[in-house]
Amino acid sequence: MAAKSQPNVPKAKSVDSVTSDRTASQGQWGRAWEVDWFSLGSIIFLLLCAPFIVYYFIMACDQYSCALTGPVVDIATGRARLSDIWAKTPPITRKAAQLYTLWVTFQVLLYTSLPDFCHKFLPGYVGGIQEGAVTPAGVVNKYQINGLQAWLLTHLLWFANAHLLSWFSPTIIFDNWIPLLWCANILGYAVSTFAMVKGYFFPTSARDCKFTGNFFYNYMMGVEFNPRIGKWFDFKLFFNGRPGIVAWTLINLSFAAKQRELHGHVTNAMVLVNVLQAIYVIDFFWNETWYLKTIDICHDHFGWYLGWGDCVWLPYLYTLQGLYLVYHPVQLSTPHAVGVLLLGLVGYYIFRVANHQKDLFRRTDGRCLIWGKKPKIIECSYMSADGQTHHSKLLVSGFWGVARHFNYVGDLMGSLAYCLACGGGHLLPYFYIIYMAILLTHRCLRDEHRCASKYGRDWERYTAAVPYRLLPGIF
Ligand code: NDP
Repeated sequence: MAAKSQPNVPKAKSVDSVTSDRTASQGQWGRAWEVDWFSLGSIIFLLLCAPFIVYYFIMACDQYSCALTGPVVDIATGRARLSDIWAKTPPITRKAAQLYTLWVTFQVLLYTSLPDFCHKFLPGYVGGIQEGAVTPAGVVNKYQINGLQAWLLTHLLWFANAHLLSWFSPTIIFDNWIPLLWCANILGYAVSTFAMVKGYFFPTSARDCKFTGNFFYNYMMGVEFNPRIGKWFDFKLFFNGRPGIVAWTLINLSFAAKQRELHGHVTNAMVLVNVLQAIYVIDFFWNETWYLKTIDICHDHFGWYLGWGDCVWLPYLYTLQGLYLVYHPVQLSTPHAVGVLLLGLVGYYIFRVANHQKDLFRRTDGRCLIWGKKPKIIECSYMSADGQTHHSKLLVSGFWGVARHFNYVGDLMGSLAYCLACGGGHLLPYFYIIYMAILLTHRCLRDEHRCASKYGRDWERYTAAVPYRLLPGIF
């Protein structure tokens, strides 16, 4: 069923009606225009190291059964040289290149050529053509939301292949995991470089481009806000959702198939990881319209951070638990498994309800009930680069009254559950919770900085009403 309520597109007012106490600067709330030395250092570090971090994790599983210290100890004690490790690393293969090309082409076709039909028969699902938020330049983009359909069709094909067609082995992803890593890197770098060149020479919306004068910052954080090819091929929506997130559940299924092939059965830990992460992925596609209002789409420009991150970092590092369980088929005791399941489900509940509360509040312009009551509201205003003043509202009830980013807490609880499903044998599967804690804390600070410059004193009123960012009394 298509959305009945209009997405929150704040109404434009003339410049004359700007409220007198505004301190936020005009159209300045997107990513930075100037780069400080700390940001520059972090960016160069990530550009140089992130591809090696991914390689290190995957290689440690392949050659050292997921023992993260294995390669370091071997090199330090002279048992192996870097060249030995490299020589044992599978290279890119023609088969992997064909597979990857087929995969990405299939996802492009599903994205561009099949208008959504799920919203016509799934009650409560919002798909089809939807509007994004107002960009700093005052543009409102339209999106074809058909991710759930792409996910369903892809998985239908996967199961049809596994049980009926037998075109390829369900272990195909695991069996080509490292050769596919090289293909994903090629696409990640190609798309980030293309987006950078496009931003300079033929941007989709020139008014929404940002140039800092620093090449590395521009490359990493992006120049263009919403690069597109044609009317509908939106880089951010495509690359974040597909091929990365559609692939996530397929990768896990392939790992489960490999575990069965190697060990004769699928352990309860593997089932838990598959189920909990599938809930997260399906939730993402069920709520793809909501995703248009998140930081990735509303505020981040499209550069290496999103382009390479979506192609390489996400599919390779978010699936480490499943990969680990292929090498270590952990079977959890019933209380441990139930504990993990409960933690994952409670985390998911908080994540979903908090995100839903904000989405509902914004879609209905505050005319809704939060936890059964009329919500408390802070009225705020901001100015886009074209000089128009817009009005918006901040929610001070529900989870948004508990802490300013309680949705992140739910996400962190879910992430911890995936890791705990792998038992305590190795550090590798715990990378995800460490990474998510850093990512979401940094994201929280980044978002608050942006909101402060967007809303000025109105944001200060919100921080006074809800003093904690993540955990009341702690942070
Ligand atoms: P949010 O969904 O929290 O969006 C933040 C934005 O919401 C702000 O910029 C502001 O935007 C608006 N806002 C802030 N406070 C309020 C309020 N009180 N009332 C109404 N609107 C408010 O952030 P994200 O996009 O980062 O996260 C979305 C979800 O995605 C989270 O649950 C997060 O955990 C998850 N996530 C997962 C990642 C992963 O890799 N697994 C990565 C990143 C996020 P505006 O300008 O519109 O006012």
